[in-house]
Amino acid sequence: MILLDGKSLSKKILEDVSNRVTNLSKIPHLVVILVGDNPASQIYVKNKKIAAEKVGIKSSVIELPANIPESVLLDKVIELNEDDSVTGILVQLPLPEHIDKNKVIMTISPKKDVDGFTPENVGKLVIGLEPYFYPATPQGIIMLLDEYKIPIEGANAVVIGRSNIVGKPMAQMLLKRNATVTSCHSYTKDLEEKIKTADIVVSAVGKKIVRCKMVNKNSVLVDVGIFRDSNGKLSGDIDFEYVSPSCGFISPVPGGVGPMTIASLMFNASKIYI
Ligand code: NAP
Repeated sequence: MILLDGKSLSKKILEDVSNRVTNLSKIPHLVVILVGDNPASQIYVKNKKIAAEKVGIKSSVIELPANIPESVLLDKVIELNEDDSVTGILVQLPLPEHIDKNKVIMTISPKKDVDGFTPENVGKLVIGLEPYFYPATPQGIIMLLDEYKIPIEGANAVVIGRSNIVGKPMAQMLLKRNATVTSCHSYTKDLEEKIKTADIVVSAVGKKIVRCKMVNKNSVLVDVGIFRDSNGKLSGDIDFEYVSPSCGFISPVPGGVGPMTIASLMFNASKIYI
C-alpha cells in the first residue's frame, strides 16, 4: 500500500503558489463573506485567511449577522464583483435558512468565483470548456492522483456522494480526464460490487462506508469524508486500519484530502481574471 500524502504535496503546492504570487504584477485579494456565528465556519474561514496570508495573498473577512436580509447580502456580493481591488470572492457555506444559497452563488462573478460553484464555471466544466476555477476539493484530488502518477484515462472510477461541492464536480473532472465514472449515492444498489471492481474510488459521504472486504489489492482509495466517530475521534469514510493493508493507494484522514483542499483553494485564489 502507498499512502497518498496530501500533507506533503500541499506544502509543495503552497510554495509554488507563493512563488507565483511574488511574480504577479498585482497582489491577489480574496474576500471571504461569513454570515452568522457557526463555529465550524468560523474555523474554516480563519484557516483560509491564515493560508492566504502565508502565500502572500491579501485576504479580508466580511462578517455579517445571521439575520441579515438576503437582499443586503446580494448587494454586498454585487459591490465586491464591481470592486477592481477584489480578485476572489468566497461566501462561506452553509448560510442561514432564510437565505437562498443558490441565489447568492449565482450572483458571484464567475471570474472571481474561487470556489468554482457558479453556474458558468460548473457549466463550462460539464460541456468541456475551461472554467475560470475548478472546485477546490476535486481539483486537489486530481492534483494528488497526478502526483502519484495514477492513470485516470480509461480507469473505472467510482465516486460516492453527489454533492455540488465534491461528488458531482469530482465525477465531471474524472470524466474530463477520460475515466469511466460511476456516480453513487444513497439510492445506489450493490455499492459493494461497484467499489470492488473500481480502479479509483473517491468517497465523499461523511460516514464509514468503505470497508475491508469491498476493495481489491490495486484499488486507489481517496477519502474525502471528515467527521467525528462515536468516540470523538476524527475519522474518514474509509475504514483505514483494515482497508489500508489490502489496497494499492489510500489517502489518510487527516493528512490526505483536507490539506489538498486548502492548497487547491489557494491555487485558485492566486489566479486573477480582472
Ligand atoms: P453531503 O452534501 O452531505 O453529501 C453526502 C453524499 O453522500 C450525498 O450525495 C448522499 O447521497 C451520499 N450518501 C449518504 N449515505 C450514503 C450511502 N449509504 N451510500 C452512498 N452514498 C451515500 O456531503 P459533502 O458536502 O459532499 O461532504 C461529504 C464529506 O466530505 C463530509 O464528511 C464532509 O465533511 C467532507 N468534506 C471534506 C472536505 C475536505 O477538504 N477534506 C471538503 C468537503 C467535504 P444522496 O445525494 O442520495 O443524499
